[in-house]
Amino acid sequence: MGHVVHKFGGSSLADAKKIQNIANIISGINETVVVSAIGKTTRMLQQSIDAALKVQAYDVSLKQILSIHLDIIEKLGIQKNHLDAILREDIEQISQMLKTISLTKICAEPLKHFILGFGELWSARVLNAYLNSQSIHSEFIDASDVLYVDDSSFPVSVDWEKSQSLLNASLENRETKVHIITGFIAQNLEGQRTILGMNCSDYSAAIFAKLLQAKKLIIWTDVAGVYSANPQVVPEARQLQRLSYKEALELAYFGASVVHPLTINPMMEEEIPIYIKSSFDPQNAGTIITHPLKEPSKAKYWIKGLTSTADVAIMRLQGAGIIGVSGIAAKVFSILEQHGISVMMISQSSSEYSICFAIHSKMANKAVRALEKGFKAEIDKGDIEHIYCDKGYALITAVGDGMRSQPGALSKVIKPLADAKVNIHAITQGSSERSITVTVHESDEALALKLIHAQAKNAPVIELAIGIIGVGNVGKVLIEQMQNQYLSLLEKNLRIRVVCMMNSKRFIQGENLLLDNWHEALQSPEKKANLALMSQSLLNTPVAQKVIIDASANLEVSEHYLEFLDNGIHVVTPNKHANTQSMEYYRELRQVALDNNVSFKYETNVCAGLPLVNTLQTIQLCGDTINKIQGVFSGTLSFIFNQMNQGKTFVDSLMLAYEKGYTEPDPREDLSGMDVARKVVCLAREIGLSIELSDIDVQNLTPKALQDVPLAKFLKEIKHYDQEVTDGLLAIKQKAKALHFIGEIDAKGKISVGVQACENTSPFAGLSNADNMVLIYSDYYCHSPMVITGAGAGAEVTAAGAFGDVLSLVNRM
Ligand code: ADP
Ligand code: MG
Repeated sequence: MGHVVHKFGGSSLADAKKIQNIANIISGINETVVVSAIGKTTRMLQQSIDAALKVQAYDVSLKQILSIHLDIIEKLGIQKNHLDAILREDIEQISQMLKTISLTKICAEPLKHFILGFGELWSARVLNAYLNSQSIHSEFIDASDVLYVDDSSFPVSVDWEKSQSLLNASLENRETKVHIITGFIAQNLEGQRTILGMNCSDYSAAIFAKLLQAKKLIIWTDVAGVYSANPQVVPEARQLQRLSYKEALELAYFGASVVHPLTINPMMEEEIPIYIKSSFDPQNAGTIITHPLKEPSKAKYWIKGLTSTADVAIMRLQGAGIIGVSGIAAKVFSILEQHGISVMMISQSSSEYSICFAIHSKMANKAVRALEKGFKAEIDKGDIEHIYCDKGYALITAVGDGMRSQPGALSKVIKPLADAKVNIHAITQGSSERSITVTVHESDEALALKLIHAQAKNAPVIELAIGIIGVGNVGKVLIEQMQNQYLSLLEKNLRIRVVCMMNSKRFIQGENLLLDNWHEALQSPEKKANLALMSQSLLNTPVAQKVIIDASANLEVSEHYLEFLDNGIHVVTPNKHANTQSMEYYRELRQVALDNNVSFKYETNVCAGLPLVNTLQTIQLCGDTINKIQGVFSGTLSFIFNQMNQGKTFVDSLMLAYEKGYTEPDPREDLSGMDVARKVVCLAREIGLSIELSDIDVQNLTPKALQDVPLAKFLKEIKHYDQEVTDGLLAIKQKAKALHFIGEIDAKGKISVGVQACENTSPFAGLSNADNMVLIYSDYYCHSPMVITGAGAGAEVTAAGAFGDVLSLVNRM
């Protein structure tokens, strides 16, 4: 069996339990384990150096480091190895060095590297001691004894020959099959301990995998592999099963911290596969990085992975003198190279009027100084006007081998950002054509990642253009719900675009108002409200599916539905008016919708979001015959009668509902029963009855004498009628369990709207709060009715019901 090199990151060593877990992962035969420092040790060492340089208390971090390690040693039960003594000694030594740093306020690089390298020595010793205590015969190796590098510049270059012979010599006399090697550190040409570079333990592991001719390298970390984006930023990110070395390199180079970029090349040269796995979930297969397989001709995702780097500065050299002068760019980059400043991205500029590139923010000042010095003559002459430097940017990079053969890949990265009005400051396509990088403002980094991620699929995204009329209670909540769901729906290949909006006074339009500050725009509108503009705006949008949502309660708006439908625009509405006007209009709406192959959806006309209308339609389409519908359709009346059923009088119950805001501003609108009657008309028509609102006999709960008086008078005098109304209602109840205001429709056309007594066996007797309940008796549901119950009013459920209607138009339900 070939040799396996494991690498465990700091998070896999962060506490005793995690270290114990490593013993379960190591098989104990023919393995090398390369470790990072425990938890955040290296960072804390860096903090102690920083503190010393600022003459602050540097021993805080040291004490913390000591206590974390001592705690782990104790919990692992490995005290007898005198590790605590070694640790205390080392910390004391570091403390002395920090004292000098703090006195001189100087910390030379070699000293810094020496101090930073302690963490791996401790972690490797701790792991080794623990494995020994578990009868795994392992030995500790200090990489600075066997790994030689030239650290005169970073990244360091490995002296492969010398390292190979030293490692061979070191291993020759060992009998053990498992070696625990420190990551991160090495020895330099001067014979001092140094580091490979920050976060370079992955690289250490790759170097040892190459030197040992390993069969594979497994990098154990805190995520189950490489994801399509950093899962901490993009929760929807998918775990990738397989990546090519080149894809991994590009992802790592542009910021995916899950594997260090230097790790890839040696493994690619040696054809050693890299596995990225979670030490917390070892059963998970993780991600394999290897040579590319023949990809299926049509991969599902054209972007393999997305990554980002923050803390980027954009620099621009600009001036007429740059035009046509060859060699300026070469000079720029050679100056930067001389100063050890690496360029992360160069932006193409066809004008040649400017040269634009990105570097790490912390290098920005140095770069400006170097360029100003290097181009002093050109600046003095005015050939170069300016050297701009702007910090606070992030680079977002999309990577995928498949992008090479993808026409329009660039637009797929840019469009979602443009749609969302995220400003793009520079764009480059990697020369490998395997990556596209865009520069955005740092504050847009997470959003940009999410937006592009949602577009990473090859399957076409369906667009739905939406116009919203009425941004009151329901309209506002609906817009919020759409905004919240925008990205999730995009994941499901649906892009919802609100292209126009109006209230009673104003009209606005845009690419996608969901992503704009529509609220503000409505304050200073483009135009006065006008229904014709709504149709126009939708018709001008080059999208196949269009819908108008009427969230107003306006009669006039409902009279325009025919026109909308005739224009090929779906209509979705909670507005009851259209369905309760004449039977003739009712039939015409359906005919025109049918002729134009569009839908008229109004689930929320009855009982808000409860799935009543759509259910009736579906079961009838499936051949069922509805025989009877019975329901408590008014939330207000449901509340009032639930109170009465608990013993309150009528007026006390009414006033409680009024105070809680459950009634209309004028409670007589609820008491009149007309709201219930309208819903009953809707449902009666839904089951094929030809009926007008005026045909229905409705019980009005308002005493006759108060029906036409002003509201104030009603509110003042209603209490005088309490006894009379309460007694009248109780007479209906007699010995029954409960009273309710019930609308009832039977298929033969008998309709009633009024108070009924409900026996113990009636589902209505179990109602509470302001809930609605509807019983559907049909041929299919003959033994017991289908019961639909729940909140039948409220902005949230109404908006969600309308939203559901919208989604059903494009089969996204
Ligand atoms: P370790 O300490 O094990 O070396 P790192 O913190 O260096 O761990 O790397 C793992 C982290 O990399 C993950 O927790 C995750 O937040 C981050 N990461 C960034 N990009 C990706 C990605 N594309 N896939 C998976 N993880 C990623
Ligand atoms: Mg790492």
